[in-house]
Amino acid sequence: MGRRKQRGSRQQREQKALLAQSHLTSILLNPAEHPRDVVESAAVHLSKVSQRHRLTLPPRVRSRVCRKCWASHSFTSQFRVRIKAGQRLHTCLRCGYIRRYGAGPKAHRAARMVQRGD
Ligand SMILES: [Zn+2]
Repeated sequence: MGRRKQRGSRQQREQKALLAQSHLTSILLNPAEHPRDVVESAAVHLSKVSQRHRLTLPPRVRSRVCRKCWASHSFTSQFRVRIKAGQRLHTCLRCGYIRRYGAGPKAHRAARMVQRGD
């Protein structure tokens, strides 16, 4: 019938996943210290580990991978950055997926007003 009860708790499993995540994160953050194919497979592994264990991506690597095809974006040859209408656009050169950062042309005005208001 169902699965047998496995050894170890959910916490242990999560701990191992987090450990793997931080290892892969360090590869993606220091791409110069690893062969390029290692960096690229680290991006894919990171996605698999994170999805399987329902973990969020560490903030520091969020912009280092393509959310669509999971290509590594640790090298500038792998994505294009443009500023458009006050937003930073990252275009994945592998699948063409565009990721937007920032809230748009007038976001900085609102931020300034809030600062003054305080
Ligand atoms: Zn992509």
